[in-house]
Amino acid sequence: MHILLIGSGGREHALAWKIASSPLVTKLWCAPGNAGIASEAECIALDVTDHAAVIAFCRANKVELVVVGPETPLAAGIIDDLDAAGIKAFGPRRLAAQLEGSKGFTKDLCSEHDIPTGAYCRFDNAPEALAYVRDQGAPIVVKADGLAAGKGVVVAQTLAEAEAAIGMMFEGGFGIAGAEVVIEEFLEGREVSFFALCDGETAIPLASAQDHKRVFDHDEGPNTGGMGAYSPTPFVTPEIHDQIMDKIIGPTVAGMKARGTPFKGILYAGVMLTKEGPKLFEYNVRFGDPECQVLMLRMMSDIVPALLAACDGQLKNFDLRWFPEVAVTVVMAAKGYPGAYAKGSVIEGIDDAAKLDGVEIFHAGTVAKDGAILANGGRVLNVCASAATVSQAQARAYQAVDLIRWPDGFCRRDIAWQAIAQEKAHGQ
Ligand code: AMP
Repeated sequence: MHILLIGSGGREHALAWKIASSPLVTKLWCAPGNAGIASEAECIALDVTDHAAVIAFCRANKVELVVVGPETPLAAGIIDDLDAAGIKAFGPRRLAAQLEGSKGFTKDLCSEHDIPTGAYCRFDNAPEALAYVRDQGAPIVVKADGLAAGKGVVVAQTLAEAEAAIGMMFEGGFGIAGAEVVIEEFLEGREVSFFALCDGETAIPLASAQDHKRVFDHDEGPNTGGMGAYSPTPFVTPEIHDQIMDKIIGPTVAGMKARGTPFKGILYAGVMLTKEGPKLFEYNVRFGDPECQVLMLRMMSDIVPALLAACDGQLKNFDLRWFPEVAVTVVMAAKGYPGAYAKGSVIEGIDDAAKLDGVEIFHAGTVAKDGAILANGGRVLNVCASAATVSQAQARAYQAVDLIRWPDGFCRRDIAWQAIAQEKAHGQ
């Protein structure tokens, strides 16, 4: 089977690694890919914003399945255009991708279908938004409605911060994404990520995973795209799992179908475990990066039949199996990230690190030049490890990190600390 994967991050390297391991696959391309993906797939310089060019490539190369990693092409309707051209593609169509592309859309869906979430209001002008936050008080959460590269959310601890965020968004701080603003109740509790594979009607939960958004140890510093992740998370107990499926994921899939915009693809729920039970605070319509990396390490089943079944609306009788081992991934980023950083520094020792038992290294922002691997982005490498316990997986991952020689990079040293604390509390 011929497959085209779209994307260039650590998430796509993990997907490429998993897809390439399927005996069903005879040829895998990735557009645009990166230096690591090149060892799993043929990387091609295809402009993925040019849907006609993607379709032409698929036709010329007899591509039978397109897998889309990031949200931007999904929101731009790449699945709609591939579907219309008769090319099977994994991911939601444009209107279903609004679950990520418009926070207001998702909040309205929640209120229509009694999906537990924080109280909210939508605004298209600053004076009304300011009056609302002054009435509500802080803490409160201010969100740009549209896609803002993961930066469109301000958790305001004070009224002044909320007012500044509203001003910044309506003045164009996030461009068109901030033309509408959603103001949401601040939810208190532990944050978990929940993933489900959907075919428009049926949702199959994936293994649980948790990421670390803050840039520094002890969850300090600014938010990032994610500095590490682990799977499974002990905080999604079987009871919480069932509540999330019954009260959040199930009604969302049913609600989207009822609207005539069935959701196919990966539904990624950001859930706060509050005193009143799990509450949704956001949806993403694709795998999380770096959560995807740990999920791919733990997935025992062949992913390709699962992706095909989701495209074909055939998940009803489908089953996914997972390895019991814990997986941890540590992100190595360029110094300065998530602010300004330099590109082009040389990274050495990756091959030695990858030889360690249970270790897998996925590339994110890398490029190969004259036989060397150079940093080419903010988040650059994902150093992943599996083992029987979280402590062992973490120790392996850092053993591998320590073999990588990259003076211009850094990483957090405490990935999976919550799960390790929990493991210790249970005497493991
Ligand atoms: P997002 O960019 O949507 O992933 O949001 C960034 C972070 O903001 C999330 O990971 C949460 O920690 C936080 N957040 C979003 N919505 C809320 C909320 N209603 N209450 C508390 N924290 C929130």
